[in-house]
Amino acid sequence: MENKIKLENLTYYYKDKKAVDNISLSLHSGKFLTILGPSGCGKTTVLKLIGGYLSPSKGSIFIDNTDITLTGACSRKIGMVFQNYALFPHLSARKNISFPLEIRKLPKNECEKKVNAISELIGLTQKEIERKPSELSGGQQQRVALARALVFDPHLLLLDEPLANLDKTLRTKLRSEIRRLQKEINITTIMVTHDHEEAISNSDLIGVMDQGKLMEVNDPKIIYDNPQSVFVANFLGETNIIPANFFNISKNGMTHIRPEKIKIENQANECNWKKNGIITGITFIGTDFLIDLKTMEGVHFKILTRNPPSFRVGSTITMGIDIESVWLIPENLEDI
Ligand code: ATP
Repeated sequence: MENKIKLENLTYYYKDKKAVDNISLSLHSGKFLTILGPSGCGKTTVLKLIGGYLSPSKGSIFIDNTDITLTGACSRKIGMVFQNYALFPHLSARKNISFPLEIRKLPKNECEKKVNAISELIGLTQKEIERKPSELSGGQQQRVALARALVFDPHLLLLDEPLANLDKTLRTKLRSEIRRLQKEINITTIMVTHDHEEAISNSDLIGVMDQGKLMEVNDPKIIYDNPQSVFVANFLGETNIIPANFFNISKNGMTHIRPEKIKIENQANECNWKKNGIITGITFIGTDFLIDLKTMEGVHFKILTRNPPSFRVGSTITMGIDIESVWLIPENLEDI
């Protein structure tokens, strides 16, 4: 498969602040990459560099194997949806959507056809696109921003936290609609978010950033189960980071095991590694219970279980783990 986009040693400084630190990455055509990371780690800056809104301090950007590092934003054919949508408030949704076509001097009747087609695909009615952004809901404004980013058939779609301003129900709905649309028109997409659930459920690949660096890029399932560092393990969701010598897996280093992989009560008996511990907390978190357990050695575990527990805080129970599901984190390992 061909690389659609390739970043080589991309670096960016805001004055003396290094916001993006030597990032290299390639993404195949039609794939959906989510860049995940804490606030301020440089995610938006990476998108702005790719979109051409900032020029790299160092490094190169290739699209379809052509170096576009010095190409202006308008000539890059990259659609971008900004976090706050950045719609023109004085223009109707229709005019907002047709803007990229008008600056490319497309004939009026072609503009109209394209705006109608993309609006229909994105689920905006003819009535809605005649309104100004202020007369539309957050979800509708998001659709207008998406339509504007896609109307000129870009090579690449960039989404900067496109769902951040919406309520949870709408966010989940639009998240799967964006993914459906992305697959339908087969557009290579890079989305930025700090929400790990959004990243895991929507992407072909996840890239995790920290302090300007790209720590790891991988398939969602692999990065969730087998992360390369403690930081990535923690950032992908609740987990247990336990010294490897506790399981006799290695003398050094750390392991991780997700709370839903630890078994308790009857199910613990079937596991090939068992340990007793005291329950120090039971929290109902909606569909599951989060159990806190402390082993006799003083090691704390978090366990996720669907069934209402039959024990109380202070009870001693047995937990079970299939030892193969404990992952030895490769970071900082010596002497294995
Ligand atoms: P968030 O998730 O909060 O949007 P982010 O991961 O997208 O954050 P960036 O917006 O890329 O992070 O910012 C990266 C770093 O660069 C931050 O430390 C930020 O304070 C700094 N920064 C961003 N924009 C500017 C600017 N215009 N001038 C100076 N520093 C900036």
